Amino acid sequence: MNWRRASIGAVLAMTATLVVSPHPAGQGPSFSAIRATAANIDALRDWDIRVDRMARSGDLRRRDEHEDTIMPGRRHERLEQRYQGVPVWGGDIARQTDRGTTVSIFGSLYEGIDIGTEPTLTPEAARDVIARLSGVDLGGRLPELIILPLDGGGFALTYRDQAISPDEASVYFIDAMDGRVRLKYNLFENQSAVVEGTGVLGDRKKVSVRSQSGTFLAADALRPPAILTYDMRGNLTAALNALNGVTALTTANLAQDPSTSWLDGPNVDGHTFEGYTYDFYFKKFGRRGLDNNNTRIIGITHPVRAQDILIQPGGIVGTYYLNAFYCPTCGSDGRGMMVYGEGSGSIQFTCSGSPAFTVRNFAGSLDVVAHELSHGVTAYSSNLIYLNESGALNEAFSDIMGTNVEFFARPANANYLMGENLAAVPTPCLVRSLQDPLGFGSPDNYSIRFTGSSDNGGVHINSTIASHAFYLAIESGTNRTSRLAVQGVGSTNREQIEKVFYRGFTQLMPANANFSVARAVTLRAAQDLYGLNSPPYNAVRDAWTAVGVN
Ligand SMILES: [Zn+2]
Repeated sequence: MNWRRASIGAVLAMTATLVVSPHPAGQGPSFSAIRATAANIDALRDWDIRVDRMARSGDLRRRDEHEDTIMPGRRHERLEQRYQGVPVWGGDIARQTDRGTTVSIFGSLYEGIDIGTEPTLTPEAARDVIARLSGVDLGGRLPELIILPLDGGGFALTYRDQAISPDEASVYFIDAMDGRVRLKYNLFENQSAVVEGTGVLGDRKKVSVRSQSGTFLAADALRPPAILTYDMRGNLTAALNALNGVTALTTANLAQDPSTSWLDGPNVDGHTFEGYTYDFYFKKFGRRGLDNNNTRIIGITHPVRAQDILIQPGGIVGTYYLNAFYCPTCGSDGRGMMVYGEGSGSIQFTCSGSPAFTVRNFAGSLDVVAHELSHGVTAYSSNLIYLNESGALNEAFSDIMGTNVEFFARPANANYLMGENLAAVPTPCLVRSLQDPLGFGSPDNYSIRFTGSSDNGGVHINSTIASHAFYLAIESGTNRTSRLAVQGVGSTNREQIEKVFYRGFTQLMPANANFSVARAVTLRAAQDLYGLNSPPYNAVRDAWTAVGVN
């Protein structure tokens, strides 16, 4: 899931100007908990039977199951307790099997739960209680029912949600019968802080960090998921070990600075833009992060040293200098990492006859950061196969959402170019245009799609066929190749088309989709959201037709 399609690296030589080509390119209160730490074989067998029985009856629900990555034949399951379908807070079991035979069970289950599971309070009323107590506008988000084991014994049916205000981040449990607060605790162990940072382009911005032991760490303590930015300080071996999961990154690897004024532009921008992207998905679509379950987000900066660019092999230059990428399965937990290329330092390039330019650090481009994170959203949803047409749709979704994040976070400077801040000169080697793909060397119509095998079958090149349809459905316009005109919904209604594409791509799209399927799923999404033959529906239909996809 690379940013670039052109193979720039291979042409590196000891010269200052290089020519590149665009083609081809909780611990809960433990009252009445039964702790399963089965040590002897009889107890273990009893527990095993009990867990199976509870799983069958629905009193335990499997939330995770995976192979042991170190010991062949071992598997691990995690099961959460339910009571009449409602989760029980802290009721959780981890079971390990060896070729089908259970070898360990750890966890806590609650017995003697005897309460009604029909709330008196509506979720909306509980949300309003949390909003009033925290002073946080929770939007349309609703708290979830959960059974809370009480310190003094017994259980309460509660609504749980979290609220993040500038001064604190708390989890609230609101009694579902009478609306009182049953429990409130802090979401983060560490102190959140905000420092002032200077970005790659010299602009100042607030950076959400964590204060610890006299320094500030690039660990976002304001948003629900862990957003962590690691600075590899030019150590490519360490970066590779982290990507391969050979070594786990630690607090020592986090970008950090004891000053409240951060001056490392890539660390400032990468970390900040990851947060903006999270906010976009949550505020626009209610999506909780990449996997919709607030999985941690990891960005890696400075994988190489800028001054080494001329002595590096072309592959390293193409991947870790002049590129950014998201690896969906990287990291010691296999949950994905982003890497921001270092840029070219003082080394200049030319491309397609453009004036010479240097390439900036990739973390400095909001649309690029959002593009890479959106590959994470795809990996956790449609999982579009990164080859041929499904791969081009994967790239298109990242460009579409990358553009949307720019309109969301920086409306004054937003446009339909992707990666325009990577260099002082917009060049087809680095930039794609959703508005005018042809102007940057990419097809604007299915009839002129790239059919070769390079670029994984044109995943970057052909992405503009779909992303241009997105553009036309909003802004109106005439496709340069088909000369078909489209009446879009207008920029004031851009959110309609954002929602249509988000819903189509993340909810309805299969992994092996082609362009024709993309047309069908976005039309279905438009119909679901706005009705058949509504203006958004018609705009999306006409936009796909204009780009030659029927
Ligand atoms: Zn990409």
